[in-house]
Amino acid sequence: MRHVAIIGSGPAGYYTAEACQKAFGDDVRVDIIDRLPVPYGLIRTGVAPDHQSIKAVSRRYEATALSDNVRFVGNVTVGSDVTIAELRDLYDAVVLATGAPHDNPLGIPGDDLPGVIGSAAFVGWYNGHPDFAGLSPPLHGPGAVVVGAGNVALDVARILAKTGDEFTGSDIVAHALDALGPHRIETVTILARRGPHAIAMTPKELGELGHLARATPTVDPADLPAPEADAALDPGQRKSVAHLRAFADNHELKAITVAFDFFAMPVRIEGDERVERVIVERTHINADGRASGTGETYAIPAAMVVSCIGYRTPPIDGVPYDAKLGRFANDDGRIAPGLYAVGWARRGPTGTIGTNRPDGFLIADHIGADLPEDSGKPGRAGLDALLDARGTDVVTFRDWQNIEKAEIAAARAGAPREKFIAIADMLAARK
Ligand code: NAP
Repeated sequence: MRHVAIIGSGPAGYYTAEACQKAFGDDVRVDIIDRLPVPYGLIRTGVAPDHQSIKAVSRRYEATALSDNVRFVGNVTVGSDVTIAELRDLYDAVVLATGAPHDNPLGIPGDDLPGVIGSAAFVGWYNGHPDFAGLSPPLHGPGAVVVGAGNVALDVARILAKTGDEFTGSDIVAHALDALGPHRIETVTILARRGPHAIAMTPKELGELGHLARATPTVDPADLPAPEADAALDPGQRKSVAHLRAFADNHELKAITVAFDFFAMPVRIEGDERVERVIVERTHINADGRASGTGETYAIPAAMVVSCIGYRTPPIDGVPYDAKLGRFANDDGRIAPGLYAVGWARRGPTGTIGTNRPDGFLIADHIGADLPEDSGKPGRAGLDALLDARGTDVVTFRDWQNIEKAEIAAARAGAPREKFIAIADMLAARK
């Protein structure tokens, strides 16, 4: 029997569990440990609430979770309830699937002013993550600035632009729906430090911006390269740029403008006590493809800045960490004998949910190649004894199913669920 502990119940965690099941059949026991009492990580609290088709992948994880050799061990914090060293003693393999939940810092003067929000917090707020439910973003004033040209920036801009009605069918949490529906931000500016050919947004997601009820995306035609230059792009990027060209051609006026500001990087955030404006510097692109400031600056009035410039994995005591790359130091997923990293904790915050599937299989292959079939370690029985002795209040997958039932029962009309946002409420709903 192989005993595997996976830390983190997001896509990387569940795909690794599924891969272990496929690789080792009945000869493996997998415990998926999460600090929250609810599973699925980024699927629940990262994927946008109006992208329910992406969230539907959790049904696949549920099938894995309900098999006899995989358990969900929720409400258990690695570091305080149990340490990595203890887990390594108990299990043959410990797999860190902790994702990359911390924002890269903007690192410019004024980035600590109230009203400057990292995307992890803003996305967590509208998705009901218990850590960010109390955020209260300033949804007023002349404008909001979204920094970055990736899909998270698109999610944030779209969520700011939608009407209450456009969230029908989504599981956006009530506090966010109540705040976003009537807000009065007229301009959402997306700051992209490079040009239209260098965006990290994908075409389907970009196309959605063109179909919003109260918002129009705008692109300055002067920022677009000559159309012939698009031929050199890969097909996906060409489709994205076609959307930008359509936005540049569209002169329809709606209540909100989502303005793409290309070749623009924030250099300072100013305001008395809170954000009032962002000072932006025009950029030019160097021979190596990077952006540098031209010295020309201008101000964008804004009460809120959301930085969507990528994420980092928080370090864990005793686990080798690559501070430059913001993830665990690893060799193809191997950190140390019996200790692995998978998903964003292994390779950084890139790719789609599906990218985690091959990643999970890679780790299962490593476990098969590296570790004996039967080491005699105690696995889950050892963890149960330890947590029991410490009085840890463990949440099982069956408990989660009760929590989920209560969330479904509480849903407003047309919504799949109303999430609990307080851990105490999750715990109270499990029986
Ligand atoms: P991302 O795709 O890496 O985009 C980050 C953006 O931030 C880039 O445009 C980057 O510009 C910019 N940036 C980085 N540092 C900056 C700085 N200091 N100042 C200004 N701009 C800066 O990251 P993401 O948007 O966080 O997305 C993470 C992953 O999740 C991606 O793979 C994404 O596709 C995926 N995702 C997918 C979906 C979906 O499919 N619906 C939704 C959300 C996220 P440079 O290119 O110049 O570095």
